[in-house]
Amino acid sequence: MELKGSCHCEKVQFKVVSQTPAPFMRCYCSICRKCQGGGGYAINLMGLKKTLQITGEEHLKGYKAIRDKRTGELCGNTRYFCGECGSHLYAHDPKYEDYIYPYASAIDTPLPELDPQADVYHIMIGSKADWVNVNDNNKHVFNEYPDCSLEEWHKKNDRFVKDQ
Ligand SMILES: [Zn+2]
Ligand SMILES: [Zn+2]
Repeated sequence: MELKGSCHCEKVQFKVVSQTPAPFMRCYCSICRKCQGGGGYAINLMGLKKTLQITGEEHLKGYKAIRDKRTGELCGNTRYFCGECGSHLYAHDPKYEDYIYPYASAIDTPLPELDPQADVYHIMIGSKADWVNVNDNNKHVFNEYPDCSLEEWHKKNDRFVKDQ
């Protein structure tokens, strides 16, 4: 399905085809929650990079986060955001060249609805902020990385969108 996204000031707009549009994975790591801001976590989707169309690209800025502040080691991915309003839009990692990872917060078109108990994954709980509560009844809580990729989850749960 085609996803349309934008930053808050709308200087940057984008479209991308996604086979994995369900916003099921919440990442509570210190980078996501600070960069994407607002709440205690961020939600990444995945889209096909070859279908990405951007307008207002001149306003886009990229940030390579420091993964380890002691060693200065950087994250492999770059997080793209609007240089005017600061809204984070998507991430891209050359290691996964064919994909971009839009933030659910940037998408304006409807996304699939989920069951908060059965579907939603909570990841990187080991580095969540103390003030964030995660529902104890949820089965899918991971201290670090989850037990499946975005694509595997969509296939396993019959949410993979095959047709383009
Ligand atoms: Zn903007
Ligand atoms: Zn994260």
